[in-house]
Amino acid sequence: MSNKVDPNLIHDLKHFGLSDAHKCYNCGNCTGTCPLSTPENPFPRKLVRYIQLGQTEKIQKSPEPWLCYYCGDCSVQCPRGAEPGETMMVLRRYLTASYDWTGFARKFYTSERFEIIAISVVALLVGLGLLLFHGDNINWQDAHINSVWPSEKIEIADLFMAAILSFLLLSNVFRCFKFTMGDLAFKVPIKYYASQAKELLIHVATQKRFGKCTDKMQWFVHLMIMTGYASVFLLVVVFINGLGFENLKFQRDLPEYPLWHPIRLIGYYATFAIMYGTTYAIIGRLKKSKPVYRYSHPTDWMFLILLQLTTLTGIFIHFTRLLNWPIPTYGLYIVHMMVAVPMLVLEVPFAKWAHLAYRPVIIYLLKVKEMYMKDQPVPAIEAEAEPVVATAE
Ligand code: SF4
Ligand code: SF4
Repeated sequence: MSNKVDPNLIHDLKHFGLSDAHKCYNCGNCTGTCPLSTPENPFPRKLVRYIQLGQTEKIQKSPEPWLCYYCGDCSVQCPRGAEPGETMMVLRRYLTASYDWTGFARKFYTSERFEIIAISVVALLVGLGLLLFHGDNINWQDAHINSVWPSEKIEIADLFMAAILSFLLLSNVFRCFKFTMGDLAFKVPIKYYASQAKELLIHVATQKRFGKCTDKMQWFVHLMIMTGYASVFLLVVVFINGLGFENLKFQRDLPEYPLWHPIRLIGYYATFAIMYGTTYAIIGRLKKSKPVYRYSHPTDWMFLILLQLTTLTGIFIHFTRLLNWPIPTYGLYIVHMMVAVPMLVLEVPFAKWAHLAYRPVIIYLLKVKEMYMKDQPVPAIEAEAEPVVATAE
């Protein structure tokens, strides 16, 4: 790995929200405080130091920014107010932009104007598309979304969008894999990847490392937003047509399923979880109630606003359907899609949502690396040195 110094790094990181890292005098309090730092992967001091020394390449290959869940403990303990927790957050934005080969993520994070224009353009295209393409027999007497935009057509659009998003996200995940594994990327036999697959699934589903932080509430809020969002995705993408089973279809029209039906229960859980999580985070950011909410990047706000608007318009549609008001239902459906689609199309591969993929993948890759290294023969020089250490002890 080269040690080339990049004098522009600190300036570049300011575009991603860096503010106080220059104040750090390298005492190490933050690393000592962090409940997630380990001897093998110590942070955040090391990363703050890399920033000060202009070590771009080392930062791009570092897994540590993804091992931090931003509890804020280190920022509280920092004697210099260098905000190491926020610095780790900045590095996650920077890495998201570095992994993204399209350059879109960098623009998204570094230009508020670009972010607003991109979201507005996608929203307008969606609105226009829904106004221009609809069914021929619109039901104006009853609220019947399927008569305007049939599920089969929405499913095709869903699949098309899912294919593009998966391609973009997976190609970026592949770059993340290459950065993180470095020279080992294609050396590690496939059996090591296979043996740790369970670890990947556990981290995706539980975010269990976050549970080690002192602020359990942050872990809970994070888990609520993540599982709520995953539930919505499951309903509107996977179950839009019930996977071929009539009684598993996600209902966009008047609910016919009994209250206890799994599709309804998942929908209610998702609504509650997202509203609870996003409201907690919005209030926290407005009040700056914790170190983790002290600094808000425009993309943090955009993420919360889009997610909450998507959920709120979904709740309103539920009521206008129950009241059987066709025109408000159709109007709200258009607004709902104009918010939900940009959130998916732009946030998932290029912004905040991408961390849902990067973080568990990196934790998984570290485990793969660890297992692989354990099985490697000890280099001769170390093998010879071992008895000497043992004798000295
Ligand atoms: S960020 Fe703060 S606590 Fe951490 S090494 Fe620097 S001065 Fe010390
Ligand atoms: S914010 Fe929390 S998890 Fe992240 S580096 Fe600081 S103490 Fe560790």
